[in-house]
Amino acid sequence: MKRIAVVGASLAGVRAAQELRAQGYDGGIVLIGEERHLPYDRPPLSKAFLAGTASAASLELLDAGDLASLALDFRLGVRATALEPANRRVVLSDGTSVHADGVVIATGGRARTLPGFEAARTLRTVDDALALRSSLVPGARVVVVGAGFIGAEVASTCRSLGLDVVVLEALAAPMEPVLGPELAAVCARLHADHGTDLRCGVSAAGMEEAGVRLADGSLVPADVVVVGVGMTPATEWLAGSGLTVGDGVHTDAGLVTSLPSVVAVGDVARYGGRRHEHWTNASEQAPVAVANLLAGRTSRTYTPSGYVWSDQYSGRLQLAGHPRPDDTLTFVDGDPSSASFVATWQRDGETVGVFALNNAKQFNRLRRQALRRPAALPT
Ligand SMILES: Cc1cc2nc3c(=O)[nH]c(=O)nc-3n(C[C@H](O)[C@H](O)[C@H](O)COP(=O)(O)OP(=O)(O)OC[C@H]3O[C@@H](n4cnc5c(N)ncnc54)[C@H](O)[C@@H]3O)c2cc1C
Repeated sequence: MKRIAVVGASLAGVRAAQELRAQGYDGGIVLIGEERHLPYDRPPLSKAFLAGTASAASLELLDAGDLASLALDFRLGVRATALEPANRRVVLSDGTSVHADGVVIATGGRARTLPGFEAARTLRTVDDALALRSSLVPGARVVVVGAGFIGAEVASTCRSLGLDVVVLEALAAPMEPVLGPELAAVCARLHADHGTDLRCGVSAAGMEEAGVRLADGSLVPADVVVVGVGMTPATEWLAGSGLTVGDGVHTDAGLVTSLPSVVAVGDVARYGGRRHEHWTNASEQAPVAVANLLAGRTSRTYTPSGYVWSDQYSGRLQLAGHPRPDDTLTFVDGDPSSASFVATWQRDGETVGVFALNNAKQFNRLRRQALRRPAALPT
């Protein structure tokens, strides 16, 4: 292959470019990114960067040495608007196009919002974080809609800045479908312990000048409203490409699309019937996708580790594995009321998930020793 286009200049795209070089590819790599910034890391956007304690420079994914050794042809501030496999080209929003023998799709996604909340803030990009940060002035009353990882982290950061925060959550407890009732209660306790007013089982109907109107007619006063309800995969540019798209780019178990010269990685990749929207997944997929792209066929399959972390208030939450709601949760060190504990999920006598609050040492030990990695997904 003479030239490979990597579309999406963030974590998954950068890891793919690095992996291309690591696997000996010495052709041209064009890295196309809609954002005007050099590739940067997103997790701090809801944590230290939002709090103002981490600089923009500290987010950068590539240092000067990386930039020199990778020899990337950057096209930043332009969007891919079409993929034309028959012509081997990616069409860009500035009217130009890139001819490429292979394509890595790494376009991640965009923050979702809710009807009636078009004027609310969302948090996906560094520009979103800068805009949100500028509104977090002393005395601002913050309402966060959604108590998932990002909503909880935004609430936590706002509390660290001394702001009053209300979190509105439609579920009975935060992240209950993923974590189950006992761990969801732990998440709720973290909010309560740090002075956040978490209101579960409520329906936010829309945003008004004075705050957020709930479905029951009541108003929650707010100066700043942040919606954290997940993301939508950025696949619109693939319409007409012939690829199968629907809640992400469909791939086989080796992250290869229906075209052997096109692979997908990161938040946008849908493999084994699901997508993962987590940092480690976006980082770990590149070696497999790139090996298959260079081989021109699926020679390796991807086995997700299912590792996620989240920093909320005084706590680091860590989760590994793929637990289901009907798995049995056991606390192996500490209990749900303690400031630090580790729990595992069991299914048919096997450990299928590990969860820790403020106990990285035990978490890593159990993750290594007890957690059986799921078998590679079928091709
Ligand atoms: C605020 C925040 C905090 C997070 N915290 C954590 C955490 O604590 N732990 C954790 O495990 N995960 C966390 N994550 C998730 C993690 O950051 C993502 O999983 C990761 O960024 C996914 O990387 P990606 O490269 O697949 O997609 P993205 O990071 O979404 O990057 C995709 C890039 O492609 C660009 N793009 C989209 N469409 C086009 C197009 N048509 N043409 C050109 N470019 C395009 C986008 O502008 C974007 O720059 C967090 C995410 C956010 C937003």
